[in-house]
Amino acid sequence: MGILNLGASALASNFKSLSRPYKLNFAVTYRCQSRCITCNIWQMKPEKELTLSEIEAFAKKNRFFKWIELTGGEPFLRDDLADIVKAFRDSSKDLYMVTLPTNSLCSIERIKSTVRTMLDLKIPKLVITVSLDGYKELHDRMRGIPNNFEKAIAVFKMLKEMRKEHSNLDFVFGYTMSRYNKGAFEKTFQEVKNAIPDVTYNDFHINLAQSSENYYRNKGADISAYGEDVARELENILSHKRFSPNPVSFLDTLFLKKLVYFARTGKSPMRNRSLELSLFMDSGGNIYPSIVSNIKVGNIKDSNFDLMRILGGDCAVKARESIRDGGESPNWTSCEAYQAMLGNLLGSLF
Ligand code: SF4
Repeated sequence: MGILNLGASALASNFKSLSRPYKLNFAVTYRCQSRCITCNIWQMKPEKELTLSEIEAFAKKNRFFKWIELTGGEPFLRDDLADIVKAFRDSSKDLYMVTLPTNSLCSIERIKSTVRTMLDLKIPKLVITVSLDGYKELHDRMRGIPNNFEKAIAVFKMLKEMRKEHSNLDFVFGYTMSRYNKGAFEKTFQEVKNAIPDVTYNDFHINLAQSSENYYRNKGADISAYGEDVARELENILSHKRFSPNPVSFLDTLFLKKLVYFARTGKSPMRNRSLELSLFMDSGGNIYPSIVSNIKVGNIKDSNFDLMRILGGDCAVKARESIRDGGESPNWTSCEAYQAMLGNLLGSLF
């Protein structure tokens, strides 16, 4: 049923504005053990992050989510990560999918036992993105952590084993292309293939590095990868992707196709639907349209955890109008892009 309800919301969003978002992007913590050169979250000293009981109160008050994308920081640093997922599973009866990344720096036992607990919740789809930004020397340098490459490979292999018993588990490598690793995908792919012989291009989700004052704390940093050479590298990856009936994989290929356009033109491939179909909540409960937006429209603790009070407020209404009129700077992030594609099915195919 979950996929049908998600599909129904996505289909409806092709014809009208939805009254409630169906996707929540939620940074469960800003704590992070990495030292990435493209992102400054690891330098933050997070305070007053939402407690489990506050998250449970939020989940109970807002029971309409069909897709939860958890992010960080490193989500697996939260001892109560599986309880957070359970809170949304218990409250949102139509929840279909939970997605989350990992930098693979927690112990593999910790990651494995948390994933197993989340799988036992029987959410129809659990998708883990294992961050990997380059071949060994490059990835470890970009992440500032020795042997991070091997740890990412070990987590991916562990997830492959777990999938043998859990068909609701999906996972990919998340490759964020920036000025530091553009041109390095093929070498990365071959090095991964040496470690995991049956890996394919479909096992990689590609993003372009983004700047954001509010989320990545890297505004103005010279990290971006755009232009014709990047577009060609993305096209080469795209040419190796194979059709898959798996909806996550299929959507990922469409996402990459649009990413080529974004890299080449610097224009958003599709209309931004953030604050209508999705929103971003930071670890303190502040609500923003998206991870690349600096417009804070409220805090759930100030609205008795009622998201609709925030989304119906003047600030959110103005922000939504501004986004609808093209007021956001061009972007194509996976946090927002999938809803934009699902809300314009014809446009996403061509
Ligand atoms: S990109 Fe992820 S792993 Fe790297 S510092 Fe930012 S939150 Fe941490």
